[in-house]
Amino acid sequence: MIPLDISTVLVLHMTSLIAGAMGFIHLRQQSLETKGLALLAAAFLGLAAGSFSAGLGERDVLPAWLWQPGSLAIGSLSYACLWLGARALSSGRGLRRPWVLLLLPIAWLCLAAITHFTADNQLRASAFHITAFLFLLAAAREVARDQRIDPLPSRRPLTIIFGLAAVVYAVEFLMMTLGRISVPNIALGFGFQTFCNFGITILVYGVVKERAENALRLAAEIDSLTGIGNRRWMDARMPGVIRRGDTIMMLDLDHFKTINDRYGHAAGDHVLRAFADEVSRNLRLQDRFARTGGEEFVLYMPGLSLADAKAAGERLCRLVASLVVQHRGDRIPVTTSLGVAWSDGGYPSWDLMIQAADTALYAAKKAGRNQVAVQPSPLSMDAVA
Ligand code: GH3
Ligand code: MG
Ligand code: MG
Repeated sequence: MIPLDISTVLVLHMTSLIAGAMGFIHLRQQSLETKGLALLAAAFLGLAAGSFSAGLGERDVLPAWLWQPGSLAIGSLSYACLWLGARALSSGRGLRRPWVLLLLPIAWLCLAAITHFTADNQLRASAFHITAFLFLLAAAREVARDQRIDPLPSRRPLTIIFGLAAVVYAVEFLMMTLGRISVPNIALGFGFQTFCNFGITILVYGVVKERAENALRLAAEIDSLTGIGNRRWMDARMPGVIRRGDTIMMLDLDHFKTINDRYGHAAGDHVLRAFADEVSRNLRLQDRFARTGGEEFVLYMPGLSLADAKAAGERLCRLVASLVVQHRGDRIPVTTSLGVAWSDGGYPSWDLMIQAADTALYAAKKAGRNQVAVQPSPLSMDAVA
């Protein structure tokens, strides 16, 4: 294998840091979710500055007393920022006292002033490698830990890439300690870090993009007034096959136009929210309740007998009728009519079941409102015919 040219690798490494920092800044400007991005940008810029100052120092452009402790202090602080940025990006959490991280570079500077250990290349590099290893490992742990509460496809590769960057530092540290470090090995190490820097940048983009997509998907499925699902949400959650016992109910508030006319549109909105809250509170975990129109709602309840389905409808009807909706001093009476379609296994599609529930709802309205009507199921109709 042709050994890597160290100068070229260093330029590439610097490029990866600056490109990454620019990427984080751009992402921060473009997206609504910005937590951790400024810290990540600062971390990459800090690492680039530390590496640049070390480069100038090696060419005697900067005095040793400045660049040797300086580059270690900047590098350590940058990795601390990287960890803090990864933590904020991953979970939105910060540190109660983030300034404590400043104690780390200050501690290195004080130690360097007293012992001059940074003048020894191996000691200085070891201190930097151990710091980088620990913070990268901590960043990997932060990203992996939040997978359960905020699962995202980019989390696992981002964890791996933080972990890989940590391992590269650990291996280099071991080689230094064993006296096996050489220029080609250092170049290879920088090559790996360059790869990791680009990887981190791309995967941070992935995390932000996946969160934005999830938020959009949620917004498209949630009714903003009542906070319950809409028709699209309901459709996505209906089982593939209709089983015996599946029940669809259509609920439509009675004389809602009159409520709006008498108490105002805001009062009408308030009633819709109170109604949706009350029904939602009285459902089982497996039930699905959605707002499908202005004052029209659909409820899916699996596993009921016909008698249970009717009883569940009547219970909801009574609950709504007893609801006390207060709005700006008015006490607004609310009732709903319910149409029930119960499956005995004869419905070929959800659309037909919804149509049947709608027919029953119309019957409940016609019969005087504030009541339940049940549509005969298809097989029982066949039996009658
Ligand atoms: P019925 O008992 O026959 O169902 O009569 P209704 O007055 O409830 O039915 P109608 O369809 O005549 O009126 C429904 C009203 O619901 C008309 C519309 O202005 C109102 N509406 C629809 N969406 C909203 C909303 O988001 N907020 C409010 N406040 N009113 C809404
Ligand atoms: Mg109505
Ligand atoms: Mg209506």
